[in-house]
Amino acid sequence: MTYRYRCGTCRAAARPTATRAESEARRDHHRDTVHGGLVPGGDRVVRVRGAEARDPDVRYVSGRAVLIGLGLLAAATAVSRVLGR
Ligand SMILES: [Zn+2]
Repeated sequence: MTYRYRCGTCRAAARPTATRAESEARRDHHRDTVHGGLVPGGDRVVRVRGAEARDPDVRYVSGRAVLIGLGLLAAATAVSRVLGR
């Protein structure tokens, strides 16, 4: 499961975390540092999936994309060899 803390007042979301407890810790830190310990409107920890669950700061290349790239490279090499004769 992946969780994110969202602050409706700031219209901001924290980076995704693997546990609810981690997102709650980010929430508590945000409340203390940005809102003086108060609970801002729209403040919540939510479970997320798909694109929302991916950390935007982590570069990720899927295995499928790499295989397609290698396949295209192999095809281009074969065509080049055939045409080069
Ligand atoms: Zn906020």
